[in-house]
Amino acid sequence: MATVGVVREQAPGERRVSLVPEVIGRLTSLGVEVLVASRAGAEAGFPDAAYEKAGARVVPPAELADRADVLTCVGPPENPPPDGKMLVGLLSPLQRLDQVRDWLARNVTAVSLDLLPRTLSRAQVMDALSSQANIAGYKAVLLAANAYGRYFPMFTTAAGTTTPASVLVLGTGVAGLAAIGTARRLGAVVTAYDVRPQAREEAASVGARVLEITAVESAVGEGGYARALAEEEQRALADELANHVPRFDVVITTAQVPGRRPPVLVTAAAVAEMAPGSVVVDLAASPLGGNVEGSQPDTTVVTPNGVTLIGAGNLPSAMAPAASTAYARNLTALLTHLMPEGEPRIDPEDEIQAGVVVTHAGQPVNQAVAKALAADDTGGVA
Ligand code: NAD
Repeated sequence: MATVGVVREQAPGERRVSLVPEVIGRLTSLGVEVLVASRAGAEAGFPDAAYEKAGARVVPPAELADRADVLTCVGPPENPPPDGKMLVGLLSPLQRLDQVRDWLARNVTAVSLDLLPRTLSRAQVMDALSSQANIAGYKAVLLAANAYGRYFPMFTTAAGTTTPASVLVLGTGVAGLAAIGTARRLGAVVTAYDVRPQAREEAASVGARVLEITAVESAVGEGGYARALAEEEQRALADELANHVPRFDVVITTAQVPGRRPPVLVTAAAVAEMAPGSVVVDLAASPLGGNVEGSQPDTTVVTPNGVTLIGAGNLPSAMAPAASTAYARNLTALLTHLMPEGEPRIDPEDEIQAGVVVTHAGQPVNQAVAKALAADDTGGVA
């Protein structure tokens, strides 16, 4: 029977852990032995003793990779796994082709949850992108509410009535829908926009008003995701949004296009027109830029006109106990699918595995990764 090893995350600011005590029993009931690097769950509120009580064995981190057959992680570990091992996590292989080549050379079976086919209903329980985006959307609203110097809800007291905050959510995928729900629960009046008509419908169905935008009617790409906009479309959209942004108290942006730089939706000129005390949270903030001009991940600035601009960092990590629990359930469902009898059974014909398995037996399995490797080898010509 296989041995599963839970690594201690090393990325700066990462507090999550890939498996939590709650799921250990499900894995041991498959006949799997679970090893946990000591203090792997400490920052997420899961002490070593809780894992031991649940039936796992705690081992020194330096011994884990050699003793386990299958290593589980959140982000890719700094030290690559030993030859022939299986590694399961959110590995972002398309952004790390050199690492993919290393796995190929060393027969590592790499399995990445971010490549899960998201439209298969039987895979929904494994959808870690959704579980983590849900947390990020929720937390973004709490950050905004905290930074906002007025009430979100309408309050009637002896001192009079307050007006509810008006919140604009741009990008209504999983994170945006969670943000709409959370802001509404806090009593705000929520407006939303997405380039995908289906996402706009979903925003309306959870109680947001939908912004009427003429610059882009629909921009649907592959797999139900948004497509990247052409430069002129993108500028026209940002210009049109700039007419709306200044009348909101709070703006939360979540727009992403897989594998591309996030689109700029809120220009510096739009932020400059916002009222003092307004708050903007950019969930897409990244070192390459985000949805808001000038936002930086993990950085909060107050603009000269008094707008608090929050570039989100790793928000799921800021809610490490909840995020780890959801992630661990996603991962356990995937592990159960990959090793129904306690041993990995790799089958590239299986629809879920054809997505998540990046490399196996020295070959790329996921077709997008295989294509990206071929294009990279030929200098960009696929
Ligand atoms: P994401 O994080 O890639 O992007 C967030 C949102 O930003 C998306 O809704 C996208 O349309 C939007 N966006 C991109 N460019 C934009 C722009 N220029 N202006 C405004 N909005 C823009 O998306 P996600 O939350 O990961 O979801 C992506 C897709 O996956 C959706 O189609 C979602 O319904 C789908 N999904 C399906 C299932 C399922 O069927 N079970 C589960 C989860 C997600």
